[in-house]
Amino acid sequence: MYGVAVHSIFRRGFPAILMIWSFPMSKKTALIVSAHAADFVWRAGGAIAAHAEKGYDITVVCLSFGERGESAKLWKQQGMTLERVKEARKDEARAAAEVLGVSELICFDLGDYPLQIDEKAMNRLVDVFRKVQPAFVVSHSLEDPYNTDHPAATRMTLDARMIAQAWGHKPGEKILGAPQVYLFEPHQTEQCHWKPDIILDITDVWGKKQAAIECMQGQEHLWAYYTNVAENRGNQFRRNSGGQAGGRPARYAEAFQSIFPKTVDELS
Ligand SMILES: [Zn+2]
Repeated sequence: MYGVAVHSIFRRGFPAILMIWSFPMSKKTALIVSAHAADFVWRAGGAIAAHAEKGYDITVVCLSFGERGESAKLWKQQGMTLERVKEARKDEARAAAEVLGVSELICFDLGDYPLQIDEKAMNRLVDVFRKVQPAFVVSHSLEDPYNTDHPAATRMTLDARMIAQAWGHKPGEKILGAPQVYLFEPHQTEQCHWKPDIILDITDVWGKKQAAIECMQGQEHLWAYYTNVAENRGNQFRRNSGGQAGGRPARYAEAFQSIFPKTVDELS
């Protein structure tokens, strides 16, 4: 990607000279870490599509395919095998990622229920952090008693972020800065002690999120549920952006909880 710089040079007695040249610009990036193949779609599909449209390179890591625990519809078919379920879930994740504008989908294939996170997997995620150098990171809630793979993925993400910041880890590599970590919406928020502090308007990219949701043929029972969630968060976006006193007419939104303090120059 190239940016354009425009400079004017004024000299007495001479007309203004307009200088234009182009120079390489580094692209903004983001990293999404999803425990299973479909989590990034339900919970952050709108954020991914919206930022891809803004020019971000989005990397999605799927730690597993959710082959054992989140593929009940496939397992009900005659003669199903673990490998066939994994292939089907991988195809769905690829199709959804393409619809959303994901730059790179990386499948770690760690196994699910439970996730098998070993040192090799951790180092692989650290390498992804250092390569991508994300402006922000998105993963699961810190707690989820229904599905312990989800907070395990978040813990792994926070550990990998910390290791990627360490000067003593693979000295000589570019270390990671301090990207914000946003926690996307769990299935049942109260039990997960998840409390959003950011609501993102995804109305303009809802069509992409809906198309990505419909790639998840193995979990058709969740399509209407997550459409409902997006509509309710849209309602809350309207309320929190000014309501009837001039709020934005968002129809669909996604909510996130941020982990770290934001650093700002001005409160608004
Ligand atoms: Zn999941």
